[in-house]
Amino acid sequence: MGEVTVRLDDLPLRDDLRGMTPYGAPQAALPVALNVNENTHPVPSEVADDILDAIARALRDVNRYPDREFTGLREAFAEYLGHGLVREQIWAANGSNEVLQHLLQAFGGPGRRAMGFAPTYSMYPILTRATGAEWIAGEREHDFGLSPAFAAEQVSRENPDIVFLCAPNNPTGTPLGLDVIEAVYAVTDGIVIVDEAYQEFAPHDEPSAVTLLPGRPRLVVSRTMSKAFAFAGARVGYLAADPAVIDALRLVRLPYHLSTLTQAAATAALGHADTMLSMVDEIVAQRDRISATVAALGYTAHESWTNFVLFGGVDDPAATWKALYDRGVLIRDVGIAHHLRVTAGTADETTAFLDALASVGSRA
Ligand SMILES: *Cc1c(COP(=O)(O)O)cnc(C)c1O
Repeated sequence: MGEVTVRLDDLPLRDDLRGMTPYGAPQAALPVALNVNENTHPVPSEVADDILDAIARALRDVNRYPDREFTGLREAFAEYLGHGLVREQIWAANGSNEVLQHLLQAFGGPGRRAMGFAPTYSMYPILTRATGAEWIAGEREHDFGLSPAFAAEQVSRENPDIVFLCAPNNPTGTPLGLDVIEAVYAVTDGIVIVDEAYQEFAPHDEPSAVTLLPGRPRLVVSRTMSKAFAFAGARVGYLAADPAVIDALRLVRLPYHLSTLTQAAATAALGHADTMLSMVDEIVAQRDRISATVAALGYTAHESWTNFVLFGGVDDPAATWKALYDRGVLIRDVGIAHHLRVTAGTADETTAFLDALASVGSRA
């Protein structure tokens, strides 16, 4: 059992999936793992106790299917997001990747096209193509920026059914102005998805795209508990949009897609949002320390409003990545020439990365 008996090509696989590669950020058990933008701080113990109690209570009802409408959790997300949002405007799933998949299942699919601005989140093309839709890679400007006119011109030329705006952008960290979202929305009849996975790491006075929702029924703002909330392993993502968009997502989700245990854990965690987010400022401080230090080492640090830094001027990214790996530090080669990306960790992890990088010394 378990041996490979046929090759993938020998199976009656969908033609449009042939030749595709799965998402595959390396998962290696290294002492310092700064490669997938996790929050490396564990859930604070007083919150963990409360989450455990909530899961224990939920477990008593686990013989029954969960609340299909995850009403309590949607109310908690509406309250967390503020701006007068109500639960009818909230959706959630097992990670924002599943939220995005629901959007693509409802608004993408065969014969449809989704567009983003490369380099951007690597899952957008994978999720798009998995629903049978076509992916269109738009372009960015100097230093990975995107101006309203430049973005809107590409969207009106390509006329896609779905536009992804990653704000701030992964893997570059680049901020995105609300004026870009307004300009893109104005030139498309499609769905505009603003992915705010890293919003909590942006400067505190920066407005969220949630403020643009009134009067824009095709605008969707997605969020995740994976990054700022230190909840990556629990798999909880969510979005805010017009209630009609939520109705569309009900058509494609699996019945009872959010388990009773997930709903209990996430609702309990949201009840402690302030504590859960208490590490954000500390992580931002480490991010800024990375930017300053890699610059002092002679690399270029790109502006970041996230919990990671993309740095350029790397002579041979694969060699530097391997040299860091050999020193017990895992970061990410995101496939941008002469660049590497590193997540801001705890102060100690960040020091370990910076010391290892200084000892590698392979600037361009
Ligand atoms: C990490 C990340 C997500 C979150 O994914 P989850 O499925 O919620 O863990 C979404 N979008 C971007 C751009 C990300 O970097």
